[in-house]
Amino acid sequence: MLKTIGAQTILSVILFGTLSFAQSTTEQPLPPASATEDWSVKPPVVTPATYGLPPSDAIVLYRDKNDLVKWQHPNGEAVKWSATDNELTIVPKTTDIETKEKFGSIQLHIEWKTPNPKEDKSNNRGNSGVFLMGLYELQIYESYNYETRIYYNGQAGSIYKQQIPLVNASSKPQTWQAFDIVFDAPVFNPDKTLKTPAYLTVFHNNVLILNHAEIKGPMVYQGYPKYEFHADKLPLRLQEHNSRVGFRNIWLREL
Ligand code: MG
Repeated sequence: MLKTIGAQTILSVILFGTLSFAQSTTEQPLPPASATEDWSVKPPVVTPATYGLPPSDAIVLYRDKNDLVKWQHPNGEAVKWSATDNELTIVPKTTDIETKEKFGSIQLHIEWKTPNPKEDKSNNRGNSGVFLMGLYELQIYESYNYETRIYYNGQAGSIYKQQIPLVNASSKPQTWQAFDIVFDAPVFNPDKTLKTPAYLTVFHNNVLILNHAEIKGPMVYQGYPKYEFHADKLPLRLQEHNSRVGFRNIWLREL
């Protein structure tokens, strides 16, 4: 008998609870489904990228040697790197190159290839880098079967000397590799102090290696990075570090 009463009591509590819940929800009826339909901005149509070709709304920075005119050395001289067979290859001791056009936040696709490992000294194999806004370095390095040639925040896909990539997705030397990058430029306050740092999301050979990783400041080889106020848009720079790294199929979309 006691068990029966107990069960009835529990049942009534459940029923009461259900009723109370039903009453509270009827006080605020759900809006019609159309209330959460957003028709305000129709996304522009873009023909997507296919192998070797950029999407239809991209700014093409390098497809063949006719695109060399879009680049220069930082001192303003014409590019001395080698441009053949749709490949732009570093010529050592010629200095970095940068785009003549300036950019802020971007989506960037860039393919790169490190040279024959016999060419480079052991600690400089395939060393180059993508400098977003000319300041923030996503490292290029020969990191396949990587062991102890360089610190982990200096291998391919690292934010150089700041952030170790999530995984090592490197392929063999002399094979084409791709970075697909989302770069959020830093934002500064009117008094030139930092409001929001820069962020990097990167896929290396289609594998996520940096997931909205915070950039701590411009690349510095020695010491610690620190933001300093700069313009909203700056050239994209590719590093010449005495290794014959090749590039191809470079394009970006401004964000
Ligand atoms: Mg580098």
